[in-house]
Amino acid sequence: MTVRTRFAPSPTGLLHVGNARAALFCYLFAKGQGGDFILRMDDTDEARSTPEFAEAIKTDLAWLGLDFDETFKQSERFDKYEAAFADLQARGLVYACYETPDELERKRKRQLARGMPPVYDRAALALSADDIAAFEAEGRTPHYRFKLSGKAIVWDDMVRGSQKIETASLSDPVIRRADGTWLYTLPSVVDDIDAKISHVIRGEDHVTNSGAQIEIIEALGGDVPVFAHFSLMLAADGGALSKRLGSLSLGELRDSGIEPMSLNSLIARLGTADPVEPVQDMPTLIAGFDMTRLGRAPARFDAEDVTRLNARILHDMPYQAAAARLAEMNAPEGAAFWDSVKGNLTLFKDVADILHLIKGPVTPVIEADDADYVSAALAALPQGELTVESWSEWTQRLKESTGRKGRALFMPLRQALTGQAHGPEMQHLLPLIGYDKAVARLQGKTEG
Ligand code: GLU
Repeated sequence: MTVRTRFAPSPTGLLHVGNARAALFCYLFAKGQGGDFILRMDDTDEARSTPEFAEAIKTDLAWLGLDFDETFKQSERFDKYEAAFADLQARGLVYACYETPDELERKRKRQLARGMPPVYDRAALALSADDIAAFEAEGRTPHYRFKLSGKAIVWDDMVRGSQKIETASLSDPVIRRADGTWLYTLPSVVDDIDAKISHVIRGEDHVTNSGAQIEIIEALGGDVPVFAHFSLMLAADGGALSKRLGSLSLGELRDSGIEPMSLNSLIARLGTADPVEPVQDMPTLIAGFDMTRLGRAPARFDAEDVTRLNARILHDMPYQAAAARLAEMNAPEGAAFWDSVKGNLTLFKDVADILHLIKGPVTPVIEADDADYVSAALAALPQGELTVESWSEWTQRLKESTGRKGRALFMPLRQALTGQAHGPEMQHLLPLIGYDKAVARLQGKTEG
């Protein structure tokens, strides 16, 4: 069996980190098994789906590095849904209902008031030809329900273990609205069968759907896939992610300068008992992914965790992985620069601030109390080409000649040379600043 998974977003909005988690699990599992990852656009809601959202979804997936092997959209497949619907209807597995939303709501309330579960009573099955003619004469058009068997549906869920849905306690699901449009249930099943999806990996909000969908798959003669329903992801404060779209949208995280592997590393492990670790590349993440490690408790997403992980990813990032972006920023070539600055980065774009310290224009900061010390330092600066040894040679000399030590020894030099009180280690910065600029800065000359 070829493993085939699908990520099935509706292009009616932007992806948030919770959606990314669904996509990532589908991708990691498929790739870990040498299988295919398929992107399906659930765009049956033609009024709300837009090509712009579909493009934004593809951009987000490409940024995360979740390359799909195939893609298709549901709006191209209405004829398939019609055919499946006609087939089910011909076999009496689909039936027409004429209740208005108000009438259904009243039924629900009556049932609840009597302490009964609000399950659809199948009144439509008892309608006579005259009743139907009367409804149609009123201008009512039917919506359609799938007739559940009333049996227990069981499956072995990769995350939740053994599952049982008593279809007798469910309402027959509406699969088609009165205006002829499709609800998600039938198209999804038809697509999963046709696309030979082997594993349906999705959020636990779909567990009940799975009961009905398994019955429909069987009714259509399809192979029932393996299901994995993972727990939902919540915002750090426990709220729903979709309500906080903005800072938690993938576009926003991308624009803020987060590395995609930071996000991937975090969301692959949230909700498992395994520690979150910075993972540099997708093959490593794929190799370390085990869906059965996911627990039942909700995963909580804290954007601060991504930022922290981002710093760790950068601190471990090999030069080769950073080289192209460094070149784009006109950073000094070679691993030495990267190795000396990466430990100071939270975001890759912080490289620009460090380059600024080196290239200038910098406004040297020389406190009045330190003016004599900085003049002495200028006189003691090693001549000629500065190397990584120059800093310790220079400060050792100054320590001996001035008796200064610690912060009093180093800070005036850092502030004069970079205009800042913080930054990468001076032993690395000094050779990058170079002799001529170092001299000018120690003289307090403003550049620019
Ligand atoms: N479009 C559905 C959703 O986003 C897909 C669910 C599924 O994976 O079956 O909820």
